[in-house]
Amino acid sequence: MAPGPPQVSAALDPAATDAWFRALQQALQLEAERGFTDLMGRRERFSAFLARSLSQPPSGFRADTVAVALAADFSSYGQLSTSQRQVLVRRCRQHLHGWRQRTRPPSAPAAPQLRLAATTDTGAQDSAPTTLNPDTPLAEIRGVGPRSATRLAQLGLFVVRDLVHYYPRDYLDYANLVRINALVPGSTATIVATVRSCRSFVSPRNPQLAILELQLADPTGRLRVSRFFAGRRFTSPAWLKLQERQFPSGATLAVSGLVKAGPYGPQFQDPLMEVLRSPQAPVRSPQIGRLIPVYGLTEGLGADRMRQAITAVLPVLRRWPEPLPKGLLAEEGLIERALALQQIHGPADREQLQASRRRLVFDEFLLMQLGLLQRRRQLTSRPAPALTPAPPSPSGAGGDLLQSFLNLLPFTFTTAQARVLDEIRADLAREQPMARLLQGDVGSGKTVVAIAALLTAIEAGCQGALMAPTEVLAEQHHARLDAWLPQLHVRCALLTGSTPARRRRQLLEDLVNGQLQLLVGTHALLEDPVQFARLGLVVVDEQHRFGVRQRDRLLHKGLQPHLLTMTATPIPRTLALSLHGDLEVSQIDELPPGRTPIRTQLLRASERAQAYDLIRSEVVRGQRAYVVLPLVEESEKSDLRSAVEVHRQLAGEVFPELQVGLLHGRLASADKQAAIAAFARGDTHVLVSTTVVEVGVDVPEASVMVIEHAERFGLAQLHQLRGRVGRGAAASHCLLIHDGRNAGARQRLEVLVRSSDGFEIAEMDLRLRGPGQVLGTRQSGLPDLALASLADDGEVLERARAVARRILEQDPDLAELPHLARLLDGQRRRLSEPAPLN
Ligand code: ADP
Ligand code: MG
Repeated sequence: MAPGPPQVSAALDPAATDAWFRALQQALQLEAERGFTDLMGRRERFSAFLARSLSQPPSGFRADTVAVALAADFSSYGQLSTSQRQVLVRRCRQHLHGWRQRTRPPSAPAAPQLRLAATTDTGAQDSAPTTLNPDTPLAEIRGVGPRSATRLAQLGLFVVRDLVHYYPRDYLDYANLVRINALVPGSTATIVATVRSCRSFVSPRNPQLAILELQLADPTGRLRVSRFFAGRRFTSPAWLKLQERQFPSGATLAVSGLVKAGPYGPQFQDPLMEVLRSPQAPVRSPQIGRLIPVYGLTEGLGADRMRQAITAVLPVLRRWPEPLPKGLLAEEGLIERALALQQIHGPADREQLQASRRRLVFDEFLLMQLGLLQRRRQLTSRPAPALTPAPPSPSGAGGDLLQSFLNLLPFTFTTAQARVLDEIRADLAREQPMARLLQGDVGSGKTVVAIAALLTAIEAGCQGALMAPTEVLAEQHHARLDAWLPQLHVRCALLTGSTPARRRRQLLEDLVNGQLQLLVGTHALLEDPVQFARLGLVVVDEQHRFGVRQRDRLLHKGLQPHLLTMTATPIPRTLALSLHGDLEVSQIDELPPGRTPIRTQLLRASERAQAYDLIRSEVVRGQRAYVVLPLVEESEKSDLRSAVEVHRQLAGEVFPELQVGLLHGRLASADKQAAIAAFARGDTHVLVSTTVVEVGVDVPEASVMVIEHAERFGLAQLHQLRGRVGRGAAASHCLLIHDGRNAGARQRLEVLVRSSDGFEIAEMDLRLRGPGQVLGTRQSGLPDLALASLADDGEVLERARAVARRILEQDPDLAELPHLARLLDGQRRRLSEPAPLN
């Protein structure tokens, strides 16, 4: 869902609204002028002011999600680099600008009209069109040249195709045509006005500086525009007279530029200007009145050179074939790809930009979905061993191994668990390999379902593998299995990076000769010496931590096994379709009975004592507590509390009467395991930890989760951490300690207080922090989307998926659509190549 216009109620006070916008825009302007130093204002810093103001819009406004996200971003402004700050400030300005435009009362005078001359497609080398093809090295293009080509290479741009697909990061909106009285400082705009007078003079203070000063007017007001010329040659009276003559009184002038706040109201800063031949004549400038693309640049390559280089390669698009059938374009309301590529680099207006963007976003999603659906076909095309369940129903009687396991459990499956196990077993019974994703909120009981599935495979005479993202989790899975499997006479072993060499050799041997039926481990399972005798089912826990390629490696071991992946980080549908579009999805949408909801509360750092009091009173009642920190050890640069430091403090000063354990990723594996075991047994009452407890660690007596520096974590991650408590019958608590200075962050955290629905939380996180953050890591097989947004383009994604299905049903190998097949190949090649080193 795209952020809609803010809701404006009748109670809106226009003066207050104006003041709110103006204050924000001035602050942003000033910050930009001073080089993004997080200026100290009278009462607070720039970033604090923005975070506060954005989260408190004038009454009558409903805060929109973008503003909330921006507020959150500004609250961590201090940690951003200058260029990140620059980007954030620009994004904010644009958003405010759009917001302002939408909320401005309609009584404002109509915007001026400006005709744009048709763009001949660029000053390109029509003389040598045959030399220009998608693979032409950029150094060979006239209008680029070897020096710029070297700079472009630094951006990963080597051939014409690369440059065509180097989309603008942003646009200067000179298509924003306004009247003089509607100029807003901090935004870009174009006015069409009449020249009332023009004079030029040499600066009284600087004999090298010439100034041209124009008085302009339109029906709504007057405006002074100054232009500066530095250098002796500009100060000659003859040259100045020449300048003046270009702007005769009464002439119609189009002016585009950035609007600044001046002492007498808004003014342009060094604008582009063009005198029109008549009031209705079109403007000839390729920039005035248009949307000007803004590209990511690199040192030594300015904006103009970049635009010039792109302009020089765009003619190649004239011979660029259309990959989709015409009929489909019409049905989907899409413009041609070549036109979209051309216009994305120089749209005449918002509509063109939107149509172009929509087409390119559609293509990104379409290629992604084609790739996933073809992969699915590939995954399921080779025969897998049919793992027939002995007697049929898992919930009914019979079924030796599985039923014995179910009998060992101190509980019965929920309806959802039983349904999902049925789905899985039906898949396993086929000769087509299963490719299934099991989604379920934290604590919904996925692991036991997975074990039941593994036992089904073992019962059918195959081996199983259970792969976890961390050693801690692998060890815990193994420990849990160890409590059950020996009674069932199933041999199970653990293989991680820290398995000693001798034990490892023995393990691998038993695996090959089939004596070992179930292997639990981490990435170590992916390593080459690991070979199975008859691998039937692979279960990947917390699958979002694994890349697609790692998954493939595992699948290539032994015969084509069935695959069950699990995730406890429920993800929004757009993300699920992007990452797991090649999988069937099962969902456990029901928690085991008897769980009391977790009470979540925000605390300021100064209120930390309350958290400690709660821990004390819970421990007295036989419960246990986690205290989670973002860092292992203190670092010089940050003032974050670290696990080691907090452990020392809690053990020594705060809870001298309790046992306090420490767990973090840098501990040796045996120490980690010991720390968890001690906590599970109750030998330690409080476990200070980093996020290694995030996944899977399961101690039912733990009823308090305290998270320090909560603002540092993504919502989905916090939800995941929170899921470590509330696993037993006792009422549980989650206390989020945050930096109280931070209004935006606080607002984000409120989502967790309100909601315990993992899907809702993930959706918010996607919106506020982006897909990489939702998944917790950047290397998670996210598709490379240049333009498409998983937060905003869900509708296009659904359409693209439907189209991809339709295309492949009729034409599985894309024989009829060779250009589309080629695009898909190109993408596949790019994704399988390692990214160029930077
Ligand atoms: P997940 O992996 O989905 O987070 P687990 O499989 O670790 O969840 O289960 C969480 C806890 O709930 C475990 O202690 C498990 O033994 C218990 N559990 C699982 N299924 C049930 C059930 N049907 N009834 C009661 N407790 C269950
Ligand atoms: Mg689990």
